[in-house]
Amino acid sequence: MASLSVHLNEIPQEGLHLACEVGQADLEFGKDDPQIQGALKVTADIVKTRTGARARGKLEGTLVYECVRCLGDYKNFVKIPFLVHYHSRDPEFRRSNKGSDQDNEVSDIDEAEGYTIIANRVNLAEMLHEQVILAVPMQTLCSLECRGLCQVCGQDLNRGSCRCREAQAGSPFSILLKRMGTPPKP
Ligand SMILES: [Zn+2]
Ligand SMILES: [Zn+2]
Repeated sequence: MASLSVHLNEIPQEGLHLACEVGQADLEFGKDDPQIQGALKVTADIVKTRTGARARGKLEGTLVYECVRCLGDYKNFVKIPFLVHYHSRDPEFRRSNKGSDQDNEVSDIDEAEGYTIIANRVNLAEMLHEQVILAVPMQTLCSLECRGLCQVCGQDLNRGSCRCREAQAGSPFSILLKRMGTPPKP
């Protein structure tokens, strides 16, 4: 794996092209993050700008999500384009650096957005992590037709039905009562 941390001195005037593969650990994914199947392919072009650097590229690969209805895992191939700015707080850099000639977006950089360059290094890992998180759908569903789990017995209704619905047909509160158990005596 190539380094996801690039020193500003390593970025030539014409820009730096980066191509590598990153896995779960490289992006510092925790257990609540989606799982990466194998590795994600990263390609990025990094150029210096007036305030620091700009990275444009994409992430490609297969993510494994947990379905919110049936709690089963399912795979999703993703292609995540990104364009982000990094800003240096180093006055020396700001004084000496004019940015790349190719960079014609210099004037509309919003410094409130983007990432901070720390110790003159552009660190891609945190940014890529966020790109993956942003790409996760609001509701992860293995299929729009997913029938989920039975609230009573936990049966995966995609795999077969259970008898709970028939049993509860008598009272709409029967599920609730079953869950709470016998109400305590006053
Ligand atoms: Zn599902
Ligand atoms: Zn059931």
